[in-house]
Amino acid sequence: MVSTYSMSVEQTLDRLAGRCSAKGAQLTELRRLVMGSLLTAGKPVKAYDLVEETGRAGRRLTPSTIYRVLDFLQENGLVHKVNALNAYVACTDHGGHSEHRPLLLVCRDCQSTTEINDPDLGGAFFNRLASLGFKTAGGSIEVRGQCPACAGK
Ligand SMILES: [Zn+2]
Ligand SMILES: [Zn+2]
Repeated sequence: MVSTYSMSVEQTLDRLAGRCSAKGAQLTELRRLVMGSLLTAGKPVKAYDLVEETGRAGRRLTPSTIYRVLDFLQENGLVHKVNALNAYVACTDHGGHSEHRPLLLVCRDCQSTTEINDPDLGGAFFNRLASLGFKTAGGSIEVRGQCPACAGK
């Protein structure tokens, strides 16, 4: 297979493909293309920008295909939706579980996100919500603010 992305991204894709197949899911060529694009970006990307990106990578996908692929990647915990930005970001917890529910720190200035997976913090948070009888809808928890670089300006 001809390498489309950088060595480190290709290695990550191979690792993620292994994780998928261990669960009986397939990181197909199209899914790999989109995932590679998100890993290369290293920041949240909007679905329509992914259409452009995959075009640059040699295979332009339609928006509906992109959304289907993003659904799969989210279900398998490889990608998180960033609602605050209406964009998608590659999970940075590559050893994590598909079920994980990270904190996403979203910078309002540079639109970078930082993923935090802290079981103690997350556990306390969700236990508290459960004790209130609040049923959460799933997905990540977004906190908007300024990243250290932007806050220091
Ligand atoms: Zn994650
Ligand atoms: Zn920032």
